[in-house]
Amino acid sequence: MSTTARVAVLPKEKGPLAIVEVTFPDPAPHQVLIKQYASGICHSQLHQIHNPRATPVVLGHESTGVVIAKGNEVIHVQEGDLVMVTWVPRNQSTTDRLAVATTLNLPDGSTATCQNVFTWADHTLVDEQYVVRVSEETARDVTAIIGCAVMTGAGAILHTAGVKKGESVAVFGVGGVGLSAVAAAKVVGADPIIAVDLNEEKLSFARRFGATATVNASKEDPVKAIRQLTERSGLFDFRQRPVAGVDYALDCIGLKVTMEQILPAVRSGAFGVSPGGTAVLVGVPLTKVELIAGDLLVNEKKYMGSFAGSCIPERDFPVFLDWHKTGQLNLNDLVTQRFTLDQVNEAVLALEKGRIQGRAIFEF
Ligand SMILES: [Zn+2]
Repeated sequence: MSTTARVAVLPKEKGPLAIVEVTFPDPAPHQVLIKQYASGICHSQLHQIHNPRATPVVLGHESTGVVIAKGNEVIHVQEGDLVMVTWVPRNQSTTDRLAVATTLNLPDGSTATCQNVFTWADHTLVDEQYVVRVSEETARDVTAIIGCAVMTGAGAILHTAGVKKGESVAVFGVGGVGLSAVAAAKVVGADPIIAVDLNEEKLSFARRFGATATVNASKEDPVKAIRQLTERSGLFDFRQRPVAGVDYALDCIGLKVTMEQILPAVRSGAFGVSPGGTAVLVGVPLTKVELIAGDLLVNEKKYMGSFAGSCIPERDFPVFLDWHKTGQLNLNDLVTQRFTLDQVNEAVLALEKGRIQGRAIFEF
């Protein structure tokens, strides 16, 4: 039983994506064939689009769909199960087997590659490690963004940083990932939750997800503004300035400027009393940074990375689905634009031009 799918293919040479009809082989022993309902559209795909490549590339790494066939070694899902596709192994600690990235034979005889999965297609064929079974009542469209955006933003708060009730958080960049971080900060009871962005509309949108204060970095210095919002009386740093800054500052963008701002934005250490706060890099960096090493040293700050929000999909996705159900993270609000697969180049342009307020999806 072969399946014909419509797949968005990025050509080897520079140029727009094309929709190609591809005949999938039967799933290999550890593969799952999924008919997809929706896929997220992620910023990291822009990096893939702009990077040179040795082969045609198929894109996308978060989706919701239904299993239509599986290899004989796959036991955690059955035909007919509702599932989510993600780019992180569903639970690597339960297996010694390493997941295998899919390659796809195209009709012109070339072979397309992907990072590890592809979801910009009406069907996908992926290693079983990237497939998470979810409950039957799961919404089939907006949940597609759990597999990257929600996991990355919310996981950074929950797992990488481990933010606790009453701790202060600043989130730089409130797109799909940043808004998920803001919502998770609210769930754990962080206060204040400061959203930082260049766009006033995005900032007021962030208040709907739990931001208690906003800073427009196109109008004021975000570090100064955050320090003013968080100054603590009676505590002083090594230089005898009042302790100020957030307990955690997350950079959900990965630009040089924001990667450098999150360190001075976190709380200085109270000299002789307690260490400083933690800067968390969440967005994909494309450059090196220069950090003020003296600030890191005397204020006993930490600078750490958060990759995929330190999530274990099989453990964490049910939690995020529950947040959606209870309204703690309303994915219907977070998904602000929908495209068909035929609009793929339009979607990429909208992403590139910053026209997507929350997160966009493809619906198949
Ligand atoms: Zn992503």
